[in-house]
Amino acid sequence: MFVDKAKIKIKAGDGGDGAVSFHREKYVASGGPDGGDGGRGGDVVFVADDNLSTLLDFRYKRKYFAEKGENGGARNCTGKNAPDLIVKVPRGTVVKDAETGRILADISSSEPKIVARGGKGGKGNARFATPTRQIPKFAKPGFPGQEFEVTLELKLLADVGLVGFPNVGKSTLISVVSAAKPKIANYHFTTLTPVLGVVSGAEGKSFVMADIPGLIEGASDGVGLGHEFLRHVDRCRLIVHVVDVSGIEGRDPAEDFEIINRELANFNEDLAERPQIVAANKCDIADDEQKAKFRSYIEEKGLPYFEISAAAAMGTKELINAITAELDKLPPIKEYEAQPLTQAEMDEMAGTDRRFEITREDDGVFYVEAPWLESIMRTVNMEDYSSMQYFQRVLRNSGIIDKLEEMGIKEGDTVNIFGFEFDFVF
Ligand code: GDP
Ligand code: MG
Repeated sequence: MFVDKAKIKIKAGDGGDGAVSFHREKYVASGGPDGGDGGRGGDVVFVADDNLSTLLDFRYKRKYFAEKGENGGARNCTGKNAPDLIVKVPRGTVVKDAETGRILADISSSEPKIVARGGKGGKGNARFATPTRQIPKFAKPGFPGQEFEVTLELKLLADVGLVGFPNVGKSTLISVVSAAKPKIANYHFTTLTPVLGVVSGAEGKSFVMADIPGLIEGASDGVGLGHEFLRHVDRCRLIVHVVDVSGIEGRDPAEDFEIINRELANFNEDLAERPQIVAANKCDIADDEQKAKFRSYIEEKGLPYFEISAAAAMGTKELINAITAELDKLPPIKEYEAQPLTQAEMDEMAGTDRRFEITREDDGVFYVEAPWLESIMRTVNMEDYSSMQYFQRVLRNSGIIDKLEEMGIKEGDTVNIFGFEFDFVF
């Protein structure tokens, strides 16, 4: 099955936690702090794999989580960095943030792209020793890894896209000019999968042609199948518009031509501007009057026009030569520019955006809920004065204390944070 769209969850590894440890040696009374830093969490990295041609695998496996960095250890041991998680996708896959639609990466080249960054490791207590605080009994937790829900969209990498109504002979054309073997049949929507073919042009030059499944009226509004495939035309440098000039299906070639162009424009204004070559097909069964009429219609628009019979391989060589010459003049295949996240967005994901919620229950206890606080709680030593000072600073800086006061908290009231309860003192 050809799948060219998928939605998955990716999460880079959290950083390892810093360690709380003190140097111990025989006959040495009390050693200094020697808790090491945590290691970095693994990144989620995307790479192109040319053995893959669809996103089918991502319909089955939807979660890609990199490992957490190792926690720091005693004797200033830094935790190991976690390995990157490599996600292999077909070449041409565009990775977007599902929420905002922003492009995070275009996996078109062979260069691996980091899409979610692992969190940094937390600092061990060795780092917190100061002249006035010689016995720091706390360390910092690792930073969280970036986390996204992403959509994957395969946008084929082809120089030339064949567009046109169903049954005009697109599949036949690609099968005679390349080694591609698409299904050819006399009914609509035979082509359910875009097919790529390598075409050898003049002077030993070659290019990639894509047979895009039939576009039908209303395709850009999502009616029928055409729309699904229009995204594959998006990167094409040149459009070859195949039209059935014989009108054997009872349609008017000029009208067909206009409808398809409207579909392209509706999908994406850029597509309407893309250079186009018109291939008038089925010339073997079209009469001279039909051909002359359509020829003047297209030439009036100033577009290159070629009469061919794909089935009889007539005129196809001239068409290929014209395509090769045109491609020479055009810029290379489009790569989408990533729209990296802003610092504010990064902070939000890194958990430095310290949102919280406080509720007062019937028992009179103030319950503080803040996901980011949980990891800090884990590393705070409630028995240690400087550790508690640090904790109080966090509560104050994040605005939690202000909020509690605003809610009317009184000296001696109970505050509950992730199950840990303490009396409030001003
Ligand atoms: P697609 O839907 O555009 O891919 O069209 P196909 O390539 O599947 O062709 C549709 C039908 O038109 C098939 O029955 C082909 O054999 C026929 N056909 C394609 N090219 C020609 C041609 O040049 N002349 C004639 N007479 N028939 C053709
Ligand atoms: Mg076809």
